[in-house]
Amino acid sequence: MDTIQAGRHASSLLTTPPRHYDAVIIGAGQAGGPLATALAGAGRRVALVEREHVGGTCINEGCTPTKTMVASARVAHLARRAADYGVRTAAVSVDLAKVRERKRAIVESFRGGSERQLEGAEGVDLLRGEATFTGPKELAVRLDGGETWRLTAETVFINSGAHPSPPTVAGLREVPTLDSTSIMELDAVPEHLLILGGGYVALEFGQMFRRFGSAVTIVQRGGQLLAREDADIAGAVADVLREDGVTVLLETEARRARAATTAGSR
Ligand SMILES: Cc1cc2nc3c(=O)[nH]c(=O)nc-3n(C[C@H](O)[C@H](O)[C@H](O)COP(=O)(O)OP(=O)(O)OC[C@H]3O[C@@H](n4cnc5c(N)ncnc54)[C@H](O)[C@@H]3O)c2cc1C
Repeated sequence: MDTIQAGRHASSLLTTPPRHYDAVIIGAGQAGGPLATALAGAGRRVALVEREHVGGTCINEGCTPTKTMVASARVAHLARRAADYGVRTAAVSVDLAKVRERKRAIVESFRGGSERQLEGAEGVDLLRGEATFTGPKELAVRLDGGETWRLTAETVFINSGAHPSPPTVAGLREVPTLDSTSIMELDAVPEHLLILGGGYVALEFGQMFRRFGSAVTIVQRGGQLLAREDADIAGAVADVLREDGVTVLLETEARRARAATTAGSR
């Protein structure tokens, strides 16, 4: 196979013939993998380009890891309520490193399953690297190994997903913060978690960490949590969180962030 060395990228791209596919899919997320195998099953030659993890956000940083951690949080919650069911337990504490280990193992097994499915699919080339458009129906893929391939295709599907976007609060960049990905890599339960925003991802982490043992405060600019839900539904969700001991602040805006002076806090 022709390969293009990194460093000779621009000039080589002009002279090396492109590899042609019926379809190129950018991103092996929720739709990318199944679409690739379906197209290949229908006889098309497909390149699926993924720059990070097969399975995309849902398997690696979204649905799967959060649900494994929610399950751990629910066990802690039920264990604390054991006496209500006539069951005696000792004091409950959470080993977040162990929760993380379980989460990582489940994510790896789901991702591995998706990878094996794609690697075994006839007619699908799984390219590990970053795709950029170089023209209409023409792409350059910088492979993880350093080579760059030119691709052309009848159809290009963009399934590039989304990524966390930090809120614009003065001083926030200067203090240590977590987002929905890095919070799942903590190995110790934080004393107090301050969550900016009251969407579904925020609420999921809020309840989870409260059940792990953190004090949790949710700061929401609008008059209700879950801005897109009906007010009665959002109100019921706020009640459940408050019952769990989460502090929910509505119509409250974070204006400025600065590092705490208390030792060990952030
Ligand atoms: C914390 C969290 C919890 C969630 N929980 C749930 C849930 O419980 N249920 C639910 O239904 N949804 C949930 N979601 C939402 C769900 O993860 C997304 O809706 C879904 O992953 C979107 O799929 P996608 O294929 O559009 O994008 P993604 O899954 O983000 O996939 C896009 C892929 O494209 C790749 N890519 C991007 N640009 C390029 C490029 N130039 N070259 C090569 N590759 C590229 C990325 O690396 C990525 O792998 C959650 C999201 C988060 C963040």
